[in-house]
Amino acid sequence: MKIVLENLTKIFPSRDKKADKEVVAVNDFSFTIPDGKLIGLLGPSGCGKSTTLYMISGLQKPTSGKIYFGDDDVTSLSTENRGIGLVFQNYALYPHMTVKQNILFPLQNLKGKDKLSKETMLERSHEAARLVQIEELMDRKPSELSGGQQQRVAIARALVKMPRVLLLDEPLSNLDARLRLQTREEIRRIQKETKITTVFVTHDQEEAMSISDMIVVMKLGVVQQIGKPQEVYDSPANLFVAKFLGTPPINVFEGEVVGGKLFIGQDHVLDMKKVPDQKVYVGIRPEGFTLDKKGPLHCQLSNVEVMGRDVSIVSTHEASVNPVVRSIINADNKLDAAKETVRYSLKAHKVFLFNRETEERIHFEVK
Ligand code: ADP
Ligand code: MG
Repeated sequence: MKIVLENLTKIFPSRDKKADKEVVAVNDFSFTIPDGKLIGLLGPSGCGKSTTLYMISGLQKPTSGKIYFGDDDVTSLSTENRGIGLVFQNYALYPHMTVKQNILFPLQNLKGKDKLSKETMLERSHEAARLVQIEELMDRKPSELSGGQQQRVAIARALVKMPRVLLLDEPLSNLDARLRLQTREEIRRIQKETKITTVFVTHDQEEAMSISDMIVVMKLGVVQQIGKPQEVYDSPANLFVAKFLGTPPINVFEGEVVGGKLFIGQDHVLDMKKVPDQKVYVGIRPEGFTLDKKGPLHCQLSNVEVMGRDVSIVSTHEASVNPVVRSIINADNKLDAAKETVRYSLKAHKVFLFNRETEERIHFEVK
């Protein structure tokens, strides 16, 4: 089922009455989440991800705007009546209940016409347990499970009601690195198998990029860009998005366009069409550098880090905004680590220009 967010805004009144500063947690968010897709809601802490999710779930009421599930306006519907499954970072399982009892619990609470027979409840709980692969743990208590297993129980508990929409708020934050990787793949598999429209909130760009059909990047309550992960990475709308996506992060330089020539410091690195003279920020992805003895970008070599397939070359440049310039080069390229200078030519499609004031992207064509 598709979810339509229409001019969704949430303003929290000031906690401090004297300061009278309200917080615009979510500002005019409009987006149609396509049916059956997994959407990654991504941004730094405090940017409004959870608030957006809580509005979709009904736990928070929007200050203005509307939410539709399919064609139904659910804006003033209570959480219980929205048909959603929720999983939080702190997956509070009932400690005195077994895994099976925990999963059954949401079904046992159904009343009136929604009430299910005992057989149906057991069938559903087994199906949910099968999906998250915890069938053999059904008789254990939460304290007898690992963090990853507990989180799977929490996901099973969200799935057992056969929700129309699955909402996950930083569900992997409490897991160690290996489990985080494994569980995120699991969530993706379950989502593909059930085809439930899913919103996955995270501050971890790699996590969002790896499992989402589309990502929404937010900053200070405002949506910055929406698109397929690769598209957003390859064509960021502004400097914030460019910096937020990618490890190692994008290299940022102060630069200037003069008569169709792009300069980084003294180095004339590219020729471009149709860009008026101006000062810019130049973003270069770590994979956007090519080692080139005659290349136009001159950096002072600091260090070469071997990473197996690739090497990471750490250098400095007087126009770099970041303390160091980091390039990723195929390990087959030989670089004399004793040298003082390293010279690069640039892959133009890995180079982005941004307005110095607005930090919006400036598109260019290479001459
Ligand atoms: P995120 O999940 O991206 O970290 P949140 O949605 O939790 O961000 O918060 C967005 C902004 O709204 C933050 O500035 C936060 O302090 C504020 N905020 C969130 N919940 C409340 C609340 N109940 N009352 C007041 N301010 C809140
Ligand atoms: Mg949050």
